[in-house]
Amino acid sequence: MTTPAENPSYQTRADGAGLDIDTVYTRCPQCGIVATSTGVSYAITADGGLDPAHPLEITCNAVGHRYSAAFIDLLAHDATATCVRCDTVFAVPAVADQVVCPSCRLYQDGPFLHADDSRRAELDRTRQAHLAQIRAELDRTRQAHLAQIRAALRASRPPPGVSGDDEQPVPTRCIR
Ligand SMILES: [Zn+2]
Ligand SMILES: [Zn+2]
Repeated sequence: MTTPAENPSYQTRADGAGLDIDTVYTRCPQCGIVATSTGVSYAITADGGLDPAHPLEITCNAVGHRYSAAFIDLLAHDATATCVRCDTVFAVPAVADQVVCPSCRLYQDGPFLHADDSRRAELDRTRQAHLAQIRAELDRTRQAHLAQIRAALRASRPPPGVSGDDEQPVPTRCIR
């Protein structure tokens, strides 16, 4: 694994197959989390390296936001973290909320989370809000699907009187 001397904001993979996405840190413009991404796509130069002339397409790993980041938006690795599992010391941005160990690939708290207690609560709120949104969307999808099934069942039901399943009025008695 090498760190290009002119830009310590990412590393290339040990096998030479391009960018190591677990070393690319950006700030999500929508939720503000500073972390690596679950997905990065980027333009490559003729020799297969990262082409800094084109923006990177990034997926926020906290909440799944998609955004473009210019090459200069990649955060410099200006601090170090020690992996809680394998003790590897690796370079990360000091403002990172979450980091990934380049050896064992464990996601863990970044230096910024330790610097500020309210930061963790803030990120928890962001994640919770996102989960609530996903649940609400699932619920809407489920309700719409159920309504569709009910409509299909109604449409396929024989006319009243044939199957005997039309509702009879319930006898009631009023006692004063
Ligand atoms: Zn985000
Ligand atoms: Zn590790």
